[in-house]
Amino acid sequence: MAETAARAGAPLVALSAGVHGDEPAGPWALLSIARDGLLDPRFAYRMWCCTNPSGYASGTRENAEGDDINRSFNSGGTTPEARAIVTSNRDRHFVLALDLHEDFEAEGFYCYEPLVGGAALLGAGIVRALDESGFPIQELGDEFELGYPPEAHHLRRLERGRVLPDPAGERAFFKGTPYSLYLMRRAAERAITLETPRTRTWDDRIAMHRTAVVAALGGLAELRAAG
Ligand SMILES: [Zn+2]
Repeated sequence: MAETAARAGAPLVALSAGVHGDEPAGPWALLSIARDGLLDPRFAYRMWCCTNPSGYASGTRENAEGDDINRSFNSGGTTPEARAIVTSNRDRHFVLALDLHEDFEAEGFYCYEPLVGGAALLGAGIVRALDESGFPIQELGDEFELGYPPEAHHLRRLERGRVLPDPAGERAFFKGTPYSLYLMRRAAERAITLETPRTRTWDDRIAMHRTAVVAALGGLAELRAAG
């Protein structure tokens, strides 16, 4: 975990990647974003560049104990990795959290943006930035596998390139709490999960994540200036 030297009072953004060890573009994209100075200076940052180091080392979705860390954020964290994050966030407040993932079936980029007060204000700008850079966007429909059983389809709305979950409904329906929903209940005003398609080249996936993070931060700055 790394924390940037914050300007006094700069709102804090959480950046994380690699909670699934077999989605390697996320960690490398985050590191390259920090290295290349792409982090908007209007915010301060907490970065977990590789949330699942044991899974990353062995190329598995789960950690070395065989647990999906992204379903272990209930009850203060039921894996060591989740507990470490929950503990270190205890006194933190994030204006936004971005979590970088990859999808094995997707052919284009998409993101999850849970509704905040019935609205989701950043995802459309992220998808537009990917469009403008010429990257493919995933069409999302009921036939695309997102891990929701049919009886849970009413818990999310689908758009081109964007899944809009109802966070309260999901928390009640699913047993293991994902990182984003834990954050939205405890520590973050908004939490967006970015997904790049494993079917694309490494360079494309890195570039897609970079474009999405920069667009999200720019959109957030505009939103805060307007509000
Ligand atoms: Zn993932």
